[in-house]
Amino acid sequence: MQSTSAYLDSLRPAGSKRSSKRDVIVDVFLKHEGHLSADDLVEVMKAHDHRTSRATVYRTLQWMVDAGLARRVDFGDGRSRYERTYRHPRHFHMVCESCHRSYEFLSSDIEALIEEVAALRGFDAKEAALQIHGICETCRTGRQPLPERDGITELVFARDALRVAIATEKSGLQFYTRAAQRTTDARGRAVFLKLAEEEKHHLSTLERRYRELVALDPDLESRPTFLFFKGAANGLFAAGAEELLGEVDDLHALKIGIRCERGSHRFFKKYGERFEDSEGKRIFLEFADEEKQHLDLLINEYRSLVERLLRRKRAPRRPAASQARRARPS
Ligand SMILES: [Zn+2]
Ligand SMILES: [Zn+2]
Repeated sequence: MQSTSAYLDSLRPAGSKRSSKRDVIVDVFLKHEGHLSADDLVEVMKAHDHRTSRATVYRTLQWMVDAGLARRVDFGDGRSRYERTYRHPRHFHMVCESCHRSYEFLSSDIEALIEEVAALRGFDAKEAALQIHGICETCRTGRQPLPERDGITELVFARDALRVAIATEKSGLQFYTRAAQRTTDARGRAVFLKLAEEEKHHLSTLERRYRELVALDPDLESRPTFLFFKGAANGLFAAGAEELLGEVDDLHALKIGIRCERGSHRFFKKYGERFEDSEGKRIFLEFADEEKQHLDLLINEYRSLVERLLRRKRAPRRPAASQARRARPS
């Protein structure tokens, strides 16, 4: 994993002088999770024993926005706040009107809806902000939130990315196991069995990564969901596995598999590319690659089966004739 300072060095033009004051502000800001106004950041700096003027902090925040390290957020109370973008995916906010805390979440379903609406209106969407204002669970119930920790958003993000990938892998395994049971073509069955084996293997890898991740924070599993993937959460292959229960011939089964793998590949690639550099991004992009390999394999298999069926159709006479000859009593 690239360190923050290595990343900052890479942003600096070669030979440019380090502005130490700015570096300190940037460093403090990037280590802080959450949403800070310029005044908040002055206070945080003070707590770190660095005295800086509001003007310097403000200029540095602006520089970070321009450099793509920070993003400005507006919670509608007349103060500009800033949050880091480095290793932090784009997300939406819930803002508590009682304690003024903000909570982050991301939803593929909301993003898909925004894209759909924009496309239908011929609108080239660059950015969307969604905020839910109300009273948070802590204020509503008095239940204390889990302790905040450095880098916790990234851990929660990776946890959720793994959960989506695991759910997809599980439904993929179910799909290929069922397809192997139902197919009549020996070669097709071998392909489905091979894919089922691969899904099983990937699944155990993902589950091991999940256990390693959970070991990093005792509260990780009970922390609130960050990534909401409603459409994908029950597995992108679930509908396909359902379809296999009907009247489906071998070609059709392959076609359903191709559709599922393509959907899964596109989904993980699209969201993976959108995320900021992070473990969650890596999980999505690696998974997208695996799905692409499965997709290519299935497409090849589909073509080969079509060819075999055509050959069988074109030359059915010979074996039939020889059988007839053999059947005829001599
Ligand atoms: Zn609250
Ligand atoms: Zn935020």
